[in-house]
Amino acid sequence: MSNKQFSAGDHITSKCTKCKDTTNHTVVAMVGDKVARVECNTCGGIHNYRNVAEKKPISRSKASSPKPAKTTKIETEWENLLNDADPADATPYSMQMPIKPGALIQHPSFGLGRVIDTIQPNKMEVYFRSGVKLLRCSIA
Ligand SMILES: [Zn+2]
Repeated sequence: MSNKQFSAGDHITSKCTKCKDTTNHTVVAMVGDKVARVECNTCGGIHNYRNVAEKKPISRSKASSPKPAKTTKIETEWENLLNDADPADATPYSMQMPIKPGALIQHPSFGLGRVIDTIQPNKMEVYFRSGVKLLRCSIA
């Protein structure tokens, strides 16, 4: 990494959001040895310094839309979770019982389920054959 030391008043090339271009800037604020804020010499706008070198591919975030068809995968995972589950190991569901993720529980209505996550202060996500349910519990 190049260790060119900048200080306030120095000229630096930065991306300007207003100009939508890489323009000449003047350093106005430093954090440690890093340029924090710069003033655009073209439009006069002061903004956080954007390193020109680290270009984030913007098209990528569009291509990978977050969590598209995860439902089918969850069902498969759920089957795996229950395949090695022994109903004899399941704890009867109770709101008072301390729960940890991964615990196997037996619910009076939903049947056998695997705790996949706990949500503070008193909720847990459980996989049942009928789907994921949010249930009250005590978190261990
Ligand atoms: Zn500008």
